[in-house]
Parts: sequence; structure tokens; C-alpha cells
Amino acid sequence: MINILNYIETKLKHRTKRKIITLGYVLAIIGAFILSLTNNNYVNASVSSNERFDYLELENLTTSQDLYQDSSVDNIRSLFNVVSSLVRHKKIVKEITVQKGDNLISILKNLSIDRSGANSIYSKIKQYYNPTDLKAGQKLSASLLINPQTEEIIEFYSLTLTPQLGERIVISLGNDGDYQVKKEKDELVQEINSATGEISGTLSQSMQRQGVPSRVINNFIQIFAYSIDFRKDVRKGDKFEIVYENQISPDGKIVKSGDILYAGLIMRKDRIGLYRFKNARGDVDYYTEKGLAMKRTLYKMPLHKCSRISSPFGKRYHPILKHYKIHWGVDYAAPYGTPILAGGDGVVQVAKYNGAYGNYVKIRHNSEFSTAYGHMKGFARGIAPGTRVTQGQVIGYVGSTGRSTGPHVHYEVVQNGRRVNPRTIKASAGENLSGANLNKFKKMVADIQTSYNTMFAQNNASQLAKK
Ligand SMILES: [Zn+2]
Repeated sequence: MINILNYIETKLKHRTKRKIITLGYVLAIIGAFILSLTNNNYVNASVSSNERFDYLELENLTTSQDLYQDSSVDNIRSLFNVVSSLVRHKKIVKEITVQKGDNLISILKNLSIDRSGANSIYSKIKQYYNPTDLKAGQKLSASLLINPQTEEIIEFYSLTLTPQLGERIVISLGNDGDYQVKKEKDELVQEINSATGEISGTLSQSMQRQGVPSRVINNFIQIFAYSIDFRKDVRKGDKFEIVYENQISPDGKIVKSGDILYAGLIMRKDRIGLYRFKNARGDVDYYTEKGLAMKRTLYKMPLHKCSRISSPFGKRYHPILKHYKIHWGVDYAAPYGTPILAGGDGVVQVAKYNGAYGNYVKIRHNSEFSTAYGHMKGFARGIAPGTRVTQGQVIGYVGSTGRSTGPHVHYEVVQNGRRVNPRTIKASAGENLSGANLNKFKKMVADIQTSYNTMFAQNNASQLAKK
């Protein structure tokens, strides 16, 4: 660009000063136009009403300069020096995805931060964030000044990590030349929502229609999974009721949702209403209005659905061994690769190839119950002895390994060391509330019922009308 300017300058030597000035305006306008295309973060150009350039303000330089106060050739030249340097350097926000094998130090090194700078950042960040928590796939964003041609980093401004939604850790270069690390947190607003509606189609669809977020719907189903068979027990015209919390960020996004304060299902003449309560020990569970603990039991089937029960529990003729034998579990046939779900909360005791069982997992749920799963195609990621699992978590996939004639899961429930029929096990209940816990709980229930009076009243009235 400077060459063009020199060229124009030579060409214009014998012309009048006035013409030079006019050309100066034209060049400045072209310059501003180029800037607006390449780097409009930097430049505010203003053209006054009489079509003359009043000023060209350059931002983000050490000093903001009003370059076009006079229209001497020197001044136009200095304007173009600035224009061309801005075209050479560009401020960008670069998104960085953490790759396998990366760590904070290697990332800082790639941002051309020297070893002592990186060490300083490393020791400062520790009070907010454990740098070894950085995982492959995590996204960071860096604000940098670069040379757009070579992508060389001219200057590092800042690096932002987002350990979780609504929270940021910002590393920046301070005026003193040292790095600063600070944590920023959005002020979250807690919002309590309620919804009720008639069930038609699936429960999820019905809840979605009333605007309940899908994570909350999943939690709702989990709460009742212990006591209700949604396919058999819930019919068209039944109703759901829900009171749940959302945490909202300042820009109106739902940061966290899911805690359900009350979950209700009205099925023909029965209402099952469960309230969330944290007892004095800090344990959270769901209780009926009277403070009775929600019934919990192991799944009767460790799959979302099966094609058929290919072999029931008890005495049967064995198709491979060709004689009668007791079948100590239930076989659920399902296509290869169907996810197998943990029958209850617990800890994996065994996950290995185990003779006739093929790929086999055993989970201990409590002092009374364990479950076992055979013939798996493979184990889900992370499933190994000692892994804690929750009810419904995928632990492996349906296969036909070991002594098996086709894809199915062999499911065993062990109660006090004896294998029992998974289809007839009795529901076991948690601890009911009493004393101070019960008093506190009853007050909370009354508060919820008063606050959501309309919802409860509406559903009570329609219940009476049906009777
Ligand atoms: Zn079996």
C-alpha cells in the first residue's frame, strides 16, 4: 500500500495542492473502506454531512489517534502506515479443542507463552480449577493478535476455560506483564415451575407438550421406574403433575434443570404423589405425602424392551445340553447390541468372560441383593470391578457369547446368596420419615400444596367428576 502511495505522490508532484488534498480524501475513504472489510473492530470512520472526512478513529492502539485533522501528504502517509499495519495484524478469538495428550502447559506453549509464564499460570489456576481435569474434546477460547498471513501469534490477550455452564476461568496478561487468573460466575436465578396435563401418546410426549425439559422428564420417569410399569399401568386420559426447579443464567439460559420437588401421577382412581426431601443426614429421597419412603425394587427386565422371554426361570429342557435342568435366571431375547441396563444402583463386582455365561457382569446392590447378566456381546465403557452404577445405566450390550443359541441376556437376581425369580421379587422400601424429619417434611408438603393449589385443585375436581 505504501508503494501505491509513493507512486501516486510522484505522479501528483506537479498538480495543485488542492487536487492533492482531494485525492487525500479519496484515499482515506478507500483506506477506511478496506479497514471496514478486514478489521472493522478497530476503526470508526465518520463522514460529516458535507461529505468531508472529519476523523478516522483508531481503536485498540496504545493511543487513540485522530489522524485526519489535516490533509498534508505526510499525514495521509502516516494514516496508510497504520492502515497497512492493521491489515498485517488481526485480533481473533480462536476456539481450541483439547486433543488427546494435551495438557494445560502444552496448550499454553502453543499460545506462545513461555515456560515461566506457563508455570505462573499453572500455580495460580489451581485455586479454582485442577488443570489435570482438562479432558480431550473440551473447548477453550483464546483471544489473540495474529498475523493473518502466517497465523503467527503476535500477542496473547486471554484464554477462557468453561469448567461448567455459567462459570468461566479467565487467564489474561496484566499490565504488569504477569499473568492473571480469575474466576467469573454467572449469578443464577432459581426458578420453580409446575406443569400438569393429560397423558395421550407416551408420557414423555405429553410432558413435552407442556414444556417440561427433557432432562426433567427423564428424572420424572426414573422416580416412578421403581413402582410403575409405564406400558401397563398408565393409560390415555391419566394425568401427570410436576413441580421442578430450573437454574437460570443472566442471559436467560437454563443452566441446570432437573431437581423435581414433586412428581405426581393420577391413574384412574389412584394418585401417586412423591415429594423430594433431604433428611437431617443429607440423604435425598422421595416420599409419599405421609412421609412413607418410595418403594424401590430391582428391574424385572434389564432392557428397555425385549422381543420375547426366550426362557423363563425354573425347570426347563436345555436345548444344547439336551436334558432337564433348572434355569437360574430369565432369558430375554433382543437384537444384537441392544443396551443392557443395571437392574438397580450398586457396584460392579465382576465384569469378565465367564465360561458358559460368556461375557458376564455381576452387580452388588445392597446387603441383600445382587444381579448378574450373561452372554453379552461386550461391556459398556468403564464397566469394571469397583465401578459404581445407577439403576438404568448401560452396562453392556446383548450378544450370544458363551453357551448360547442366539442373542439374548440371561438375567439373574441373587437374594441372600440364593438365585430367585427376577419376575416375582418383592419391592423393598427405603426408610420412612419420623420425628423431626417428618415434621419438617409435612411443613414442606403443605407449602408445595398451597403454592400449587390450582394444579392440585383442578386435578382433584376432575377426579371427583369421573367417580
Ligand atoms: Zn439363561
